[in-house]
Amino acid sequence: MMKNVLNAIAPKRHPQTQRLDERQVPNNAGGFVYTLADEGRLTRFLVLGTEGGTLYAGERAHTVQATEFVRQLVVRDAPLALRVTLDVVRGNRAPKPDPALLVLALIAKTAPNVADRKAAWNALPEVARTGTMLLHFLAFADSLGGWGRLTRRGVANVYETLPVEKLALWAVKYKARDGWAQADALRLSHPKTTDAGRNAVLRFMVKGTLDAEVVSVEAVPSETLTPALRVIEGHLLAAAATSDAEAARLMREFGVPIEAVPTHLRGAETYRAALETNGLTWLLRNLGNLSRVGVLTANNRDVVAQVIGCITDAQALKRGRVHPLDALKARLVYAQGRGVKGKGEWLPVPRVVDALEDAFYTAFGAVQPAGTRHLLALDVSGSMTMGQVGGVPGLTPNMAAAAMSMLALRTEQDAQIMGFSTQFRALGITPKDTLEAAMKKAHSHSFGATDCAQPMLWAAQHRQNVETFVVYTDNETWAGHVHPTQALDQYRQKMGLPARLIVVGLTATRFTIADPNRADMLDVVGFDTAAPSIMSAFARGEV
Ligand code: CA
Repeated sequence: MMKNVLNAIAPKRHPQTQRLDERQVPNNAGGFVYTLADEGRLTRFLVLGTEGGTLYAGERAHTVQATEFVRQLVVRDAPLALRVTLDVVRGNRAPKPDPALLVLALIAKTAPNVADRKAAWNALPEVARTGTMLLHFLAFADSLGGWGRLTRRGVANVYETLPVEKLALWAVKYKARDGWAQADALRLSHPKTTDAGRNAVLRFMVKGTLDAEVVSVEAVPSETLTPALRVIEGHLLAAAATSDAEAARLMREFGVPIEAVPTHLRGAETYRAALETNGLTWLLRNLGNLSRVGVLTANNRDVVAQVIGCITDAQALKRGRVHPLDALKARLVYAQGRGVKGKGEWLPVPRVVDALEDAFYTAFGAVQPAGTRHLLALDVSGSMTMGQVGGVPGLTPNMAAAAMSMLALRTEQDAQIMGFSTQFRALGITPKDTLEAAMKKAHSHSFGATDCAQPMLWAAQHRQNVETFVVYTDNETWAGHVHPTQALDQYRQKMGLPARLIVVGLTATRFTIADPNRADMLDVVGFDTAAPSIMSAFARGEV
């Protein structure tokens, strides 16, 4: 009699190494989990890249292997692939453009239906927003086939429709990347234009000089040139400049970006001018250089104030399409006081480091709190310390998880945070921690096997009121006695609460602990800028 009662309330055991239902597949750790539908898996690829972190167009064999799923999807459903890709691009949801460029190249070159291929080419100007991006796209596209009519028209269209001021910046900034040069692309695609100004820029891109009949540097006062041609003229004059100061004067007078000035002239004067002529994305990538050349130092308070004003301006971050991961990367690199590739050293200005932390949160945009009781559970098992997220050197999945959880911790009034491997781990993270402190705390507690059911089991055991479980993980769970979905059900029964589960995936695999058929579970992609709003709406029961 007693035995039966105990059996009735004891949790059912169903090891994660055994299949719960026929839809589950084994993950890399040998546990059984669910798989994402096409849209979710493609979104993970677009936001997080490949499992190794970065895509290099040059490593074609690797790229082909890592993107087998995308290849098959494009054959099966190219319109879906294009729709999801444009959604991610338009929402500035992904930190790196390369995955989107690769998907677009696959659709443009391999979609079975010609209308789908044309749609991809039509979208190229929107997806390849910079000259570098176009050259990356061309490296992908070229590896997938030759220069047929669609390819020539598609590439020519970019050069024919890009605003001519932007075209001039491409002409002086991004001449070649990945073995591809703008000049090659122009020779192969033959763009046509009746606009003399645009034609002069295009001819400069191929020949490296401005036509005498369009502009004679000696004869024509620079004031009479269009802004586009002024940038090119300034670039040509800077090539012959003999001092940093002269180059800086040309940058200001002609609107020349620092990338169009010879490397040996990039000193304090030119960096000061670049603060006026270059944009926010450049600024985030060059804070170390600005400090190294002595422009951004604690003593130069006007410059510090100007830089902080730029990088914490919500509107400027949005206009400049700065992704939160760009800010986080800038924060990690700048605070180190040396370049990623060991180039140069500098003394970081602490207030700028703080401002970069603010920029990380601000770049997500305004997130409406869900107002429900949250348990933020970070997978701190050993696998979360391997690999890098979004191509940021040193950013492991568990550090990325800590950064993402800080956003939720600071947004939600009623949120507690814990770590887990095969058991609960107190991490001691508070909303007032810096990102660096939170990441260190998560990292220093990381080791051991994985049981993603732990947050729900722990909350049930300690009778914690939780309406929203958020599990940050690589979904490589295997070590538990019950599956996470079962643990959620047991928690709901025991506490009589309709708790929901959100899974934040930090790696670009196809695995998830969330059952895609259930309305009380949601899978989102870590560092997808759309994720925080979706999570909030889901926690409120609106989706
Ligand atoms: Ca693990």
